[in-house]
This record gives sequence, structure tokens and C-alpha cells, in this order.
Amino acid sequence: MEPVIVMKFGGTSVADAQRIKHAARRIVETRERGNRVVAVLSARGTTTDELIAMAEEVSAVPDPREMDMLLSTGERISCALCAMAIHDLGHRAISLTGSQAGIVTDESHTKARIIDVRADRITRALDEDRIVLVAGFQGVSSTARNVTTLGRGGSDTTAVAVAAALGAEVCEIYTDVRGVYTADPRIVPDARKLPSISFEEMLEMAASGAGVLQLRSVEYARNHGVQIHCRSSFEDTAGTVVLAEGDPMEQPLITAVTHSVAEARLTLVGVPDEPGAAARIFQALAQVNVNVDMIVQNEPASAGGRAEISFTVPREDLRTASAALEPLAGESFTEMSRSEEMGKVSIVGAGMRSHPGVAAKVFTVLAEEGVNIEMIATSPIKISCVIARDRVERAVQALHGAFELSGPDSISEEQPFTA
Ligand code: ASP
Ligand code: MG
Repeated sequence: MEPVIVMKFGGTSVADAQRIKHAARRIVETRERGNRVVAVLSARGTTTDELIAMAEEVSAVPDPREMDMLLSTGERISCALCAMAIHDLGHRAISLTGSQAGIVTDESHTKARIIDVRADRITRALDEDRIVLVAGFQGVSSTARNVTTLGRGGSDTTAVAVAAALGAEVCEIYTDVRGVYTADPRIVPDARKLPSISFEEMLEMAASGAGVLQLRSVEYARNHGVQIHCRSSFEDTAGTVVLAEGDPMEQPLITAVTHSVAEARLTLVGVPDEPGAAARIFQALAQVNVNVDMIVQNEPASAGGRAEISFTVPREDLRTASAALEPLAGESFTEMSRSEEMGKVSIVGAGMRSHPGVAAKVFTVLAEEGVNIEMIATSPIKISCVIARDRVERAVQALHGAFELSGPDSISEEQPFTA
């Protein structure tokens, strides 16, 4: 039987009529090379942001179920339009909502997790020689049967989940950059495109702000053995392949510098120094589905003293997080303070596992730039520093330079990039 290829197109790749037609042509070309094709599309351009703004115009705290009804429309528009364009190229195509495509999720609106893919309808359509377009970023909840969405960037996860369910040969993520870079090329013009990267490094990169792939899509691909290929939708060149094992020949000390400018920090003062204090705090945050990133707690210096806990959350979750903690004031802490304008810079590299001195170098580079480090967290292959948001760009450039990550593949030495 013909192999299945899943092709996912991001928002910029379907932003206007020309680009939809262009995506349709690429999809048809893949079909004509003898593959069965499922394409997963994102909402066009800034559609999702516009839909969120529309909701906020009518309601201060939009109802999450209705939010998902609203947000899921963006991806449906892309798929219907692309199916029309494919018909005009002489192929049969069918667009499906997430629900029709069998994407079953849990009940958590706006951040749902895929729990099953019942792909029989997709398979049937493929058997009928159709190209199948699946609306990304959405599903249907398993018990209440509501429309759900998968969190920002969730179309990547739709694509990987569909690829896993169909046993696809590859899940191609078409985007407006050529692949995964050693740093964001908009900040570091001589950043280099990586030909391949290991799952463990890609996970750390996605978790620390690299926007190319949604974190959950990388987790899902690793758990289900899906091959991901991130590549440009505007050029026919190889991008970055995510591999189970990194390329051992290509294992530098540091692979990439990532960053985020969307962090906020909460600090709780006067936390009782007793078992269960941290559990109460973080249970309250888990209940409202806030993803806590970095956590720092100090041990009180004096007997009977009280601890301080600081942690970061995505800035968009700050309001939810503080609202969830307020009822615990008094019992679990005495004071809560918030810093909204935080950012984070991280270096990721499997090679650092066996090399001492990387942390010292990171801190020295930041010190030389006069960047104050406010929090630090590490994993065996990552060092992250929380810093002021307005220093992030400079910090990324300095670290990328200091670890000599630019190279012959860098974007500034290729043709100027035209989207
Ligand atoms: N349209 C959704 C978003 O902007 C999902 C996606 O593009 O992956 O987050
Ligand atoms: Mg994306």
C-alpha cells in the first residue's frame, strides 16, 4: 500500500489565497509522488489572535467551552478553502473538523489533551483516493462531546497524533522558517539551521521557548515513534529532522540558545517551613491547569523561620494563578508579589552532560553584558536563567556568540529569505 505522509501547514503558510493555493500545490505534488496524504492546517495568519480579541470584546472572562467553539473555526476555514483549491487542481479532497477526524480529548477546554485518535473516517477517505484535510488544534471531548482546543500551537500535536494513528512515514511540519535554528534567526541573523536534532534536545528547546514545535507534539512524537521533519513551506529544501538518537557525529557542547519573553514570576513570602506547604500551593495551581515552569525555594536560615517560594508561569496565566492562590493567603503564605515583565534565556545541548564549566561560562557571559540573573534552573542538558524581559535579545546574542554557534549554514549566508 502507498505510504502515508502527514503534512502540517502553519498559520503563515496559509495566510492568504495565494499561500493556500501554494500549499494545495505542494500537497498535490506529494500525492502525485505516490503517497497517501493527510494535511493538517492551522488557522490563517493572525486569525486565532483576532478570535481571542473578539471574545474579549464581549466578555471579560470568556466561557471556556464557548471559547473553544469560537477558536476551532479558524482551522476549519483553512481546511475548507484548501480543499477547494485542491479540487481545482484535479484531485479529490475532503476537509474534516477535529471531531470528524476522530481526535478525542479530555475535557479541559482551551488546553485539552488528545487521549485517542479514531482514524477510521480518515482511513476510509484515503481508501477512496481522497486527500484529507484535518482542522488542527481541536478535538471533541470524550464524555461531554464538546468541541475542545489543544492550546496555542496545538496544530503540531494534531499532526503528530494523526501521523501516529495512521503509521505515517513522516510528519512534515511546514513553516515560515527553514527548520530548527541554533537561535531565533530574527534575533541572531547568523544563527545556523540544524540538519537534525535529538528528541531530548528538541523537548528542552520547545519547553524553553523555541516556537517551531508545540512541546506536546514533541512529547507525543517521542512516545509514539513518529518521525518529524520541520521544513519551509516556501522552498523545497531539507529542513530539520527530529531523531530518536541525536547524530553522534554532530554532538557539540551546546546545540542552541532559546528564549521566551512571555514569562511572569510570582513570589510567596512567609511560607510555613513544614511538610505539605508547597503541596498546597502547587495543587491549587494544578487545579486551574496552570503550567508552572521554574520553582525556587530557600531553606529558612533561622529555626522556626519561614520560607520564600518563587516560580514562573506563562504571562497569560498570571491572573489565573494569582486568583487560585489568593484563598491560601494567611495559611500558606503571608504575602504574594508579582513581576510581569520577565523573560528567560536557555542554552540546550546534550554535550554539556559530560562537560563541567558550562554554567560558569553562561553566568560570566551574562555578567559581562550587565544582565542580572534572577532565577536559575538546570537539567542535565539545559541551563535556564530568568532575566528582565527587555534584556533577553542581547542575552541571546551574547550567548550565541560566546558558544560559537553560528556557522556555514547560517541564514545570512543563504539567499535573503522571502516569505
Ligand atoms: N491556530 C492555533 C494557534 O494560533 C493553533 C496553531 O496554529 O497551531 O495557536
Ligand atoms: Mg506553531
